[in-house]
Amino acid sequence: MAHYQGLIHRYRDRLPVSEHTPIVTLNEGNTPLIELQRLPDTLGFDGRILVKFEGLNPTGSFKDRGMTLAVTKALEAGSQAIICASTGNTSAAAAAYAARAGMTSFVLIPEGKIALGKLAQAMMHGAVVLQIQGNFDDGMRLVQEISAEMPVALVNSVNPYRLQGQKTVAFEIVEALGTAPDYHVLPVGNAGNISAHWSGYCEASGVQTAACGHCQGQCPYHGPVPLTTRRPIMVGYQAAGSAPFMRGGPVAHPETIATAIRIGNPMSWSLAWAAVQESGGWFDECTDAEILAAQALLARTEGIFCEPSSATSLAGLFKDLKAGRIKAGSTIVATLTGHGLKDPDTAIAQSQPTHGVAAEKGPIAELIGKFL
Ligand SMILES: *Cc1c(COP(=O)(O)O)cnc(C)c1O
Repeated sequence: MAHYQGLIHRYRDRLPVSEHTPIVTLNEGNTPLIELQRLPDTLGFDGRILVKFEGLNPTGSFKDRGMTLAVTKALEAGSQAIICASTGNTSAAAAAYAARAGMTSFVLIPEGKIALGKLAQAMMHGAVVLQIQGNFDDGMRLVQEISAEMPVALVNSVNPYRLQGQKTVAFEIVEALGTAPDYHVLPVGNAGNISAHWSGYCEASGVQTAACGHCQGQCPYHGPVPLTTRRPIMVGYQAAGSAPFMRGGPVAHPETIATAIRIGNPMSWSLAWAAVQESGGWFDECTDAEILAAQALLARTEGIFCEPSSATSLAGLFKDLKAGRIKAGSTIVATLTGHGLKDPDTAIAQSQPTHGVAAEKGPIAELIGKFL
């Protein structure tokens, strides 16, 4: 086989494609699983923590995993345009894959509430960007109505192909570790990703569960051979101002600095509950301060820069480790959903100021001396 050509090629026997399907890919997937080297000690934890750095996908977030399949299937079905509501990363991925496929993309985003990098991507890839005076949940309702009436394919995660593509992250983790981790922790917004992870772990272990609902009868794609016999405990973390799973129902005015999970009415509500319940896991919430602290700690102690929403998985994990909720000696995988470069404003606002200095050796040496 030639070089790596994306997750549809890699996992075609576990995905709803045929040999005639016109695959739209940017060689997404195959992201690194990086073991944290310094943080576990700092936390006094004797197990292993590994991060699946999904920020290293082609458009900088895990959304590419679902978008390659959603756009592939839209193209196969003859669509010429796609539409989505987005907190930012879905719009970036939709715009890029639509460009790749020669399709038109329409993206609805909450005005002023999307990170700069994501907006730049959607604009650069030529999407028709509609900034709505409303939040993600408003946008979600609108694109469902519009796609029902106009010739535009909906590529939000209510599109089952999105979750089918996203489930491949679990296959990669199982292959890298040789088995499933003991715990898998990740941020939860619209809740498609936690559902897709669980679906992937279930398929990898040859088990069919309620979370397989989004297979929509396509369970032949449950794969030829189980990759492992084990499945992880799934733990989903939300931002405190945007935590419908903690409140037991929709949140009317979600607020958080972690804009990718600023969602009050998650579409994959019951699938996500199934993932947590079937795996023996739980949901929890983190404050914005805890999220930003985790983002900075990861960047400074491990050299890994993820966006605030992604750091929610570590912010929650730190709390659960402290609370003794995680068994000693466990292997934990945390999904880092998006790259830190997506949101430079938030990163700069919480960092130490830079040092203005004359372009002369003396003052520069003096300054450096203070840090040695
Ligand atoms: C989309 C997204 C999430 C949330 O994923 P859901 O599937 O909506 O729960 C978290 N982090 C980032 C960076 C995202 O782009």
